[in-house]
Formats: sequence, C-alpha cells, structure tokens
Amino acid sequence: MEKQKAPVQKNEMLTLTFEDLTHEGDGVGKLNGYPIFVPYALPDEQAKVKIIKVKKNFAIGKLIEVEHASPNRVEPPCNVYYQCGGCQLQHMSYTMQIDMKRTQVTNSLKKIGHIDNVPVHPTIGMDDPWRYRNKVQIPVAAKNGELITGFYRKRSHDIIEDMDRCIINSEVNDRMVEAVRSIADRLGIPAYDEKSHRGVLRHIMLRTGEMTNETMIVIVTRTNELPNKKALIQELKDTYPNVKSIMQNINSQRTNVILGKETKLLWGDAYIHDKIGDLTFAISAKSFYQVNPPQTKKLYDKALEYAQLTGKETVIDAYCGIGTISLSLAQQAKKVYGVEIVPEAIADAKENAKRNHIDNAEFFVGQAEKVMPWWTAQGLQPDVIVVDPPRKGCDEALLEAMLAMKPERIVYVSCNPSTLARDLRILEDGGYETKQVQPVDMFPQTNHVECVVELVRKLSN
Ligand code: SAH
Repeated sequence: MEKQKAPVQKNEMLTLTFEDLTHEGDGVGKLNGYPIFVPYALPDEQAKVKIIKVKKNFAIGKLIEVEHASPNRVEPPCNVYYQCGGCQLQHMSYTMQIDMKRTQVTNSLKKIGHIDNVPVHPTIGMDDPWRYRNKVQIPVAAKNGELITGFYRKRSHDIIEDMDRCIINSEVNDRMVEAVRSIADRLGIPAYDEKSHRGVLRHIMLRTGEMTNETMIVIVTRTNELPNKKALIQELKDTYPNVKSIMQNINSQRTNVILGKETKLLWGDAYIHDKIGDLTFAISAKSFYQVNPPQTKKLYDKALEYAQLTGKETVIDAYCGIGTISLSLAQQAKKVYGVEIVPEAIADAKENAKRNHIDNAEFFVGQAEKVMPWWTAQGLQPDVIVVDPPRKGCDEALLEAMLAMKPERIVYVSCNPSTLARDLRILEDGGYETKQVQPVDMFPQTNHVECVVELVRKLSN
C-alpha cells in the first residue's frame, strides 16, 4: 500500500479556515480532513498560517495573520500574553471561554467515559474574570547584576523580563512580588542560577487571604543560609502591615519542583487566614488552598447541594486538604471523616475545625487509597463520599474502596475532565449513575476547568 503523505510541508505558508477548537483552546483547520492545529486561532476565522511541525495524522501551524477575525476575538490585555505560557485564552471572549469549557467536559465524558446522556450545565463563570489568583510562585534570576522576577517564556526556563504585573494575580500579590524583589536586590541576596546550581533565591511564593488581606511570603532558597535575613524580615514587616507570615523554604535539589522539604518560620505565624462563607481557615505554606476565592464558594456550594445532607449522614471527604469542604459538610451532616496526604494540611484541618467550633469532623493523614479500605475494615459505612483528587484523578484502589463502601451518593470534584471521565466510567460500571455535571470556571483566561459531579447508587445495586 502506498504510504499516505501529509498534505503540507514544514515552513509552508497557507491560508486556512478554522472550524473547531482543541481541548487546549488551539484552533483546528482542516485540509481534506487532515487537521492542522494552530494556537491563538478561533473557529470561523480565516488566517495565514506557517506550518512548523508535520506528522502523519496532523500538523501544527503558527498564526501569521488573521484575515477574517471571529467576533469572539478580543485584544489580550496582558502585554506579555503571547510570550507567557500561563494563560492560553486571553484572545477569546469570556463567553466563548466558558462555552468552550462546557464543551470540553461534554466531549471528555463522551469520548473517554462513554457517558453521553448526562446533563452538563453551562459553566459557572466570573463577573470579572481578572485579578482572581490568591497565590503566586514566581521564579527569580539575575540579569545585568540585578534581581529579576517573571514567569517563564513558553516551553523554556527564560524569565520574561518585561513582565511587571500579572493581571490574573491579585493586586496585592503583584505589589508584594515587586516589594520582595526590590528589597532582596538592594540587600544583595544572590539569585539562584539553574545552570550552575549556585546562588540562593529560587522563587518567591505569596498567598493572600481574599477576605482577610493577610499575606504569607515564602522565600524559596537553595541554601539553608539566607544572607541579610534579618534586614529582609525587618523591612518587609515594617513596610507592609498585611504581611502576617514570612517563611523560608529550602530546596537544595536540581529540580523543577518549586518547594523543597523543609519550611522554616522566619517571622510571624506559620499560617495566614482566609474566610469562605461563614467559615475561617488557617492555611500553611505547604497546604493546598483553592486559588480563586469567589469561585471556590460557588464550587463548594454546588458540592454541598449535590451531597443532599439532612443532618443524619456519615460523610467521607477524601483528598480533603485543610478541611474546607469537610467543614462545610460537617455543618449539615452527623459526622465527617477527612483524609489527606500532606501532614501540614491535616494539622491545619484539625485547627480549622476547632477554630470554627465544629466537633463532628475528624481528620487523618495518609493516602486516601490506603485509609479508605482500612476504614471499611473498621466498619465505617458512609452515606456520602466526596472526592476532590489532584489532576491525575482517583487511584484505582480508592475507586474500589468507594464501591465497596456502597454510599448512597458520591460527589466528585475534579480539576481534570479526562481523569474524571475515566473514573466515572469505573463508578458507573460499579453500580452508580451520573446524575449531573456542573463545570465551574476556577481559572479564567486559562484552558483549565473544574467540575462538580453528582452520582447516586442505582436501586438494583
Ligand atoms: N478538597 C480540598 C483539596 C483538594 S486538592 C480543597 O478544596 O481545598 C487535592 C488534595 O489531595 C491536595 O491537598 C493533595 O495534597 C491531596 N492528595 C494528593 N494525593 C493524595 C492521596 N493519595 N491521598 C490523600 N490525599 C492526597
């Protein structure tokens, strides 16, 4: 059989009409059925494209000039948008972004989970989809004898030098990045250099409580030693009253992972506070905390609605972090058990239960997939299980443990539609029915989407 040849060649220029979007938000144009993926192109557009990569079944192109623009094309407000890898959808109207996310979820459920008759509601979006992030982790480097901070250029480790703000970051965090950078620069604290694995300052991490305006600064260093530490602390705490916690995290490894094992308190408390609804939370440096506070409230309210609690239920919250969902559930349930792998987060969760006078929630450190079977062996029979796993989804052992526990309902909170769809298939095959899916836009301007899913046990099961 004659080998099929791709209809385009590398470096070829052509005009394409776009008809669709990939999951990542790239435009898809076709030449006799052969797809060409082009970042920043939108459906219904016609554009001049340069082919940069050719494969047997697809090619990748670069957008050279838009000849007919979609009404959904908008001018990206960030001046480094096309260099930075952080956002992918700033060129797309917000309406289109949230429509795209709903489609992304619907398609994953269909293609990966073979689930195609379940309502996927319109994505819950933000009124003002900017300046929402409460946390930033920004790399530091040296340039012409000065400290610079900025995100990496796409697919590289070169810092974008002319990045003086990030408009999905909170204003406070933007200001505090610059404050830490300029003070550290003046005090001569050397930047870490990836190539030689020398120097000190690797990253500046900040988290600010949306409702409390309390800021935690985490100085990530290669070395245990932090030159001019005293002066740095003094100036930060004296100049910025919102700073409540200054931590040092030591990461001595050659790695892309930002935080190292050891975190030391330099000044203040080892945590900051924030509020979600009527609950107050302490959050320490290593604990997970949702990055978009107003949307978090909407996400948790949905999870609570899908749990349908009456006050009599025993509930498990797996992957519970600092207990944010657990404590919301506890207000409406008989008893909640939370499990989470990060010990610092469980310490926060226990403290948070006390702080909010909630005495029907218990928290355990461990791998959810190991703790759940152990709970089953102890005779624990939950009425509702809530899971909120990381991007890789639930461990198979955890899904099996859930099925063995036979709860009436499962509420699945997910930040990755692909692993969600995979896991829903297993739960459906195990006797559960997916009732409804609610996408929530936790990450405007990016191609990420969060979902809450309601599952109920089938009667025959
Ligand atoms: N529900 C929480 C946290 C969700 S993020 C919230 O909304 O804030 C997912 C959490 O799962 C993280 O805190 C992570 O540390 C934890 N985690 C990751 N792998 C785990 C495992 N195998 N067992 C238990 N927890 C795990």
